[in-house]
Amino acid sequence: MCGIVGYIGKETNPQIGLEALKRLEYRGYDSAGMAVFNFEKKQIYCLKCVGRISNLEDKLSNSAIFGTPFIMHTRWATTGRVNEVNAHPHSDCKGNIWVVHNGIIENYQELKEELIKEGHRFVSETDTEVLSHLIEKYFKGNLEEAVRKALKEVKGTYALVIISREDPYKIVAASLSSPLLIGINGKEYLIASDPAAIVSYTKKIINLEDNEIATITPEKFFIFKEKVPQEIELEVEDIQKEGYSHFMLKEIMEQPRSLKHSQQGRILLEEGLAKLGGLEDVKDKLKEIKRLIIVACGTAYHAGLVGEYMLEEYAGIPVEVDFGSEFRYRKPILDENTALLAISQSGETADTIAALREAKRKGILTLGIVNVVGSTVSRETDAGVYNHAGPEIGVASTKAFTSQLEVLALLTLFLGRQREMSLVMGQRIAKEILKIPELVEKVLQTRSEVKKIAEKYKDAKNFLFIGRKYNYPIALEGALKLKEISYIHAEGYGAGEMKHGPLALIDKNFPTIAILTSDSVYKKTLSNAEEIKTREGPIIAIATEGNDEIKNITEDVIYIPKTLEMLTPILSVIPLQLFSYYMGVLKGYDVDKPRNLAKSVTVE
Ligand code: GLU
Repeated sequence: MCGIVGYIGKETNPQIGLEALKRLEYRGYDSAGMAVFNFEKKQIYCLKCVGRISNLEDKLSNSAIFGTPFIMHTRWATTGRVNEVNAHPHSDCKGNIWVVHNGIIENYQELKEELIKEGHRFVSETDTEVLSHLIEKYFKGNLEEAVRKALKEVKGTYALVIISREDPYKIVAASLSSPLLIGINGKEYLIASDPAAIVSYTKKIINLEDNEIATITPEKFFIFKEKVPQEIELEVEDIQKEGYSHFMLKEIMEQPRSLKHSQQGRILLEEGLAKLGGLEDVKDKLKEIKRLIIVACGTAYHAGLVGEYMLEEYAGIPVEVDFGSEFRYRKPILDENTALLAISQSGETADTIAALREAKRKGILTLGIVNVVGSTVSRETDAGVYNHAGPEIGVASTKAFTSQLEVLALLTLFLGRQREMSLVMGQRIAKEILKIPELVEKVLQTRSEVKKIAEKYKDAKNFLFIGRKYNYPIALEGALKLKEISYIHAEGYGAGEMKHGPLALIDKNFPTIAILTSDSVYKKTLSNAEEIKTREGPIIAIATEGNDEIKNITEDVIYIPKTLEMLTPILSVIPLQLFSYYMGVLKGYDVDKPRNLAKSVTVE
C-alpha cells in the first residue's frame, strides 16, 4: 500500500504535489505517476515512470504540464508487473476519468470480464484499472454520483483519489480500510494517504472514514457516507404475541430461549473462560482496570447491583453502581484505571446516555451492556456486549433483565479469569451458566402456583419484598415490578434493614415476599422473616427445592432449583415477575402498557 497525493486550489504547478509525494518515499515503492487537468486545453495529461520520483520530476520539467486539480501516486505493485503501463493513474476508455488507488480490489477479475464484455478496453494488468472503467460505466456528468454507484460493486480495500475532464474542478476521494486524509488550507486542499505528506502545508485535516466519499472543490467540500446495511435480529414472531394474552407473559415465558441466545458461543467450558467478542479490542486495557462504575436506570440499575456483588466477589474489582440520572450531578472521582459500564435494554435511555457522555468527557474507558443492536449506547461506548435477548415489547422489563444478569455473570468470568480466578472456579461458573436456561424452564412451571398466590393476595394494598446479598437487588426489582404493573405500593428492602424501620409497618394486612434461597445468608434472612412472622405479617417465600423447614413459617412457598449463589437472582426473580403480572391482570390493568410509563425513556 503506497502513496497518494491530490491537490485542488489556485496553484497550477504540480511541483508542490511532488514535494508532498517525496515525503512518502520512505514507505518504499516501485513506480510513480501523475494526472493533471489543464483548464485551457480542457485535457487531462498523464505522466508515469518506473523507479524514483525524481524520474517523474524530470519528465514534468521537460513537458511543462500545469493545471489544477492534479493527482499523484507511488505504486507498490500487488496486481500486475512493475512497468510504466501498470503505474497509476489509470484511466477509462476515453481518457476522461483518472484514478489513483492504494489497496487491492479483490473481485477485479469478475468485474474486468464483465466490463470487457460490455466493450471496455483495458491497457494494464492492474486491479485498479477496473475502477476507472466501472466509474465510466456509471458516469452521466457527475463524478461523485458515478463513484458512489461503482463502489457498490467493489470488494476489497481502497484509498482513492479521482478526477474527470468532463466534471472538472473537483476531486472525489473515497476510502475503505486504507487511510486517506484531506488537508485544508483556506481554499486549497491537499489530499494524502499519510499525514507526513502534508504537515509542512497545513495542520488542519479531516480523516476520511470507511465508506465515506468526499467531493472537494476550491469553494467547498462535502462528505457522503455510504451506510452499510446491518442485519436486524428481528423475526416476525418476536413482535407477535404468539398466543399469549400479553407480551409481558410471552417474554417471561420465553426466558429459557433468550438466556440461551445471550450465552450462545460465549462460554469456553474446558478453559473456564467467557469469550466476549465485543471486548476483544480493549482486553488489555480491561486487565488494568482497578475500579468499575456501573450506570443504569430502573430495572437495569437492579441488574447493576447484582453485578456489583458478582464482580467484587469473583473478579476482585471494586464496583460502584449509580443511577444514570444521578451520576453526572456528582463530582465523580475518576482516574485512568476506572471504567464505566452503562447498562440499558434499549441503548437509548437518556439518563444513562448523559452519564456515559460525562464519563467520556473525562476520558475514561466506557463499556456497555445493551440489547438493541446499533443503539446510541452501543455506538458511543468504546466496547461492550450485546444481550441478544431479542426485542422486548412489554414496558416492564423481564427477559432483558435476566439476560443482563447472565451477561454480567459472563463479564465476571471474563474479568475474573484475567485476574486471580482459578481455572477450576472458572469452569464451575461456566458450567452453571450453561445450565441456566434449563433451570429457568423449571421455575416457569411454578406459574399456576404463583397465580394462586396472586389471587389470594389481590386485595392487599401494600407489599414488602426482602432479600439479602445477591437477592437484595431482587427484592428491589420485585417491588418495582409490582408498582409498575399492578399499581400496588411496594417496597424492597435488604432483609437485615427491616428492624431498622420498616418492621413498624408490619401487621396482618401487610404481606412480605421473602427470598429465602439456601445460600450463604440463608440463616440470617430466615431470622429476619421470623421477626415478621412474630408480628403476624403474612409471608410468601421463594426458597430452594428441598427446603421443608420453610413450611414452619409459611404455607405459601415457591420453590426454585439450586444453582451457584451468584446466579440465583436469575431464578428467584422469575416468580416475582409472574406475581406482578398476575396481580396486574387480576386488577384488570393493561400490563403491556402501564399507565404513565414508556418503554424506552428518552427524556432525562
Ligand atoms: N493494487 C494496486 C496495484 O497493484 C495498488 C497498489 C498500491 O497500493 O500501491 O496497482
